[in-house]
Amino acid sequence: MSKYDVIVLGSGPGGYVTAIRASQLGLKTAIIEKESLGGVCLNWGCIPTKALLKSAQVFDYLKHADSYGLTVKEFDKDFGKVVERSRGVAEGMSKGVQFLMKKNKIDVINGYGKLKTGKKVDVDGKEYSADHIIIATGARSRELPNLKQDGKKVIGYREAMTLKKQPKSMIVVGSGAIGSEFAHFYNSMGTEVTIVEFLPTLVPLEDEDVSKQFERSFKKAGIKVMTNSSVEKLDTSGKLVNATVKTKKGEEILEAEVVLSAVGIASNLENIGLEDVGIATDKGKVMVNDYYQTNIPGYYAIGDIVPGPALAHVASAEGITCVEKIAGLNVEPIDYGNIPGCTYASPEIASVGMTEKQAKEAGYELKVGKFPFSASGKASASGEKDGFVKVIFDAKYGEWLGCHMIGAGVTDMIAEAVLGRKLETTGHEVLKAIHPHPTMSEAVMEAVADAYGEVIHL
Ligand SMILES: Cc1cc2nc3c(=O)[nH]c(=O)nc-3n(C[C@H](O)[C@H](O)[C@H](O)COP(=O)(O)OP(=O)(O)OC[C@H]3O[C@@H](n4cnc5c(N)ncnc54)[C@H](O)[C@@H]3O)c2cc1C
Repeated sequence: MSKYDVIVLGSGPGGYVTAIRASQLGLKTAIIEKESLGGVCLNWGCIPTKALLKSAQVFDYLKHADSYGLTVKEFDKDFGKVVERSRGVAEGMSKGVQFLMKKNKIDVINGYGKLKTGKKVDVDGKEYSADHIIIATGARSRELPNLKQDGKKVIGYREAMTLKKQPKSMIVVGSGAIGSEFAHFYNSMGTEVTIVEFLPTLVPLEDEDVSKQFERSFKKAGIKVMTNSSVEKLDTSGKLVNATVKTKKGEEILEAEVVLSAVGIASNLENIGLEDVGIATDKGKVMVNDYYQTNIPGYYAIGDIVPGPALAHVASAEGITCVEKIAGLNVEPIDYGNIPGCTYASPEIASVGMTEKQAKEAGYELKVGKFPFSASGKASASGEKDGFVKVIFDAKYGEWLGCHMIGAGVTDMIAEAVLGRKLETTGHEVLKAIHPHPTMSEAVMEAVADAYGEVIHL
């Protein structure tokens, strides 16, 4: 039997990053994976969707080329090639992880891993043991009883990014990041898209101002938006799917070629030996402490299978924290209040910290500032003036409570707020940190200036 210091079960952004950090810390490490290295993120999530969205962006630029003074006589999309490009990008990233495993001298064990008592893992009949076993088996598309996926007419995200033929019409159920990104992608490609959201606003976890602007932009782009609505029933017997949608005004029947269920994820907890080992779970998640130890010594869990935001950067950070603690480093628990979340539709959304509503409910007295991209030189030059940056500060001590952005490229801008908040920056310090001109990032400085009554370009 092979013996390791650390075995990681699952090679998503949680698992493979953990394995690299473990190896860097001098721990003899193996990683077990039943599919391609890189997990959902690299193969079926973050990366292939961003490749599809890039194609949509280029296509949209071509559609509006005349507004940039350019004449493009003929252009069209080739849906098959768009999907092929996305698959190629995902494959390349997975190969990159293979290289990283080799570089870091991590043993890759291909196969299905099942936990055993005595800190062992069985992989298709062969046993491996380690002092520390880190479970990072991730998640899959959640299935609701009234949205049973058949992989053809009612699909999840995996099928949505590999369809052979572009559907003429699509109903997207759920307007979180995944639903919104696919709604935007297919709408840009020319599919007739309806997005159905149970809650009163699209992207319901975002600040209300952001949700409102996002809804306006989606409607302007031609997406049919149905909020306060739920898909009650699907009839897939005909050529098209008939969806019965309950709205505030009564029932409506929608027809589409395809229904995409984007109603969240379900953790991969089944058949991995949790019960055999006695590892405690609750509400479909593995229970862990601040350092990702389960109730059974020597077994840990990170990423989409533990409570907390199901995001790649969270999975990676949890894995690093877990393994640094194992190696005896003095490591702080993760601050779950300072995790950025992004939606890569058009417009993009990025946020961190409290929404205005949450900050008010928490009892803070607020200083709120907002700077619209319509007043930004860079946004004007780029022809991307929709959106804004909104910042929320505690009026008493100047703490940066939240930052919410919507517009072109904002997903690359939110890190400033994350870093500022991590370093406990005050608004005044952000104001005095000189931002380059002309950039979209100036909008952060200007929004902060607005909160303090010092805005220049409004
Ligand atoms: C469409 C889509 C878009 C997304 N976009 C973003 C984004 O833009 N940004 C972001 O931060 N997050 C995004 N996410 C979420 C992100 O992909 C996940 O949060 C992240 O992949 C979780 O990482 P993980 O390591 O916990 O698990 P996963 O990435 O799910 O990896 C788990 C791995 O474990 C393997 N595994 C499971 N069971 C076993 C077993 N028994 N034996 C061997 N191997 C096993 C699986 O095959 C898989 O490779 C997106 C998700 C989806 C679906």
